[in-house]
Amino acid sequence: MALCAAVVSGGALFVDSTRTATNAVSDEQINPDRIGEKPAEEEAFSRNGPVVGANGNRLYLDKGETADWGLGNSFRNGLVMTGATPHRLILFTFDDGPDRRTTPLLLDRLDAVGVKAVFFLIARRITGNTPIERQHANIAREIVRRGHIVGSHTHDHLQLPLLGNEDALYQVTQTERVFQKVFNRRPWLIRPPGGARSPRIDRLLWERGYTTMLWNIGAGDFQVSTAEQVFRTWRNVFERRETDEGERGGIIMLHDTYPWSVDAFQLIVMNLMDRNCELLKRGEELFDIVDDPSFFFRARGNRTESAVSPPATLDSNLLASRQERLRRQTAERCRLSTFQ
Ligand SMILES: [Zn+2]
Repeated sequence: MALCAAVVSGGALFVDSTRTATNAVSDEQINPDRIGEKPAEEEAFSRNGPVVGANGNRLYLDKGETADWGLGNSFRNGLVMTGATPHRLILFTFDDGPDRRTTPLLLDRLDAVGVKAVFFLIARRITGNTPIERQHANIAREIVRRGHIVGSHTHDHLQLPLLGNEDALYQVTQTERVFQKVFNRRPWLIRPPGGARSPRIDRLLWERGYTTMLWNIGAGDFQVSTAEQVFRTWRNVFERRETDEGERGGIIMLHDTYPWSVDAFQLIVMNLMDRNCELLKRGEELFDIVDDPSFFFRARGNRTESAVSPPATLDSNLLASRQERLRRQTAERCRLSTFQ
């Protein structure tokens, strides 16, 4: 069984499996005129300074249904993303898929609430010519077609710091070959299995232009077997992040290979929506489920290969306009639910 968030030994950095989340506005609703537009190449590949906030519209460009967006082309050469943010911004990520038994249902549920996510795929699952592998490759393409982003989770889900240089490089480059075959593009985002990193692995990934995406909100979904258990763990972690570390949002990590995780996704989204009704009454910042890693991303600039991104500096006008839109939608939704 593939365990995504294991304790890592042997000199690798330990990454806690449990950190999180927000409330969503689909970009189709936000900015219909910009759908399908692509940023100029030089912007997308900017190496200096924060990408986020340079242009108020930037976060809504090049959304969905394009292979460049879906393969994370805009996020190459980034600092290591941890998900830490003082804002109530949430990004959902799903690891270890695709799985024909669970991923299609998750895709429908994501669509139902207008949320885009990032899927870190195990390349071994989508290569080969068995009927199941071909089905998985089709599901992988469907993930991109529906506007989500896919990234590398290596070929065999091995912890990279435990491998020699040649084997670690194989895990990365073989995944690129598989993605090239399935998507006609290589991936630019990577989540090392288990979140296991080391200076050597960071350098290897850096040299190949990757941006490493970790997570700050896990839910231990690989350790349990019901959605309620996942939800409870998520809630505890989520609340602890704010209490202990002042992180009110972040990157949530679940696995789309478990049916209880697909159900837990719905519970988490509903909980965030309920919280927003309360936050609105108190006049506080609302949870905002984003569909763009730019909220947590910085281009690498001239830093070293192991540099971890500080929370991205976001344009205050952009955040304010998103919050204003959310407040209007939340007011309407919460009023409706009150009268049901
Ligand atoms: Zn994993």
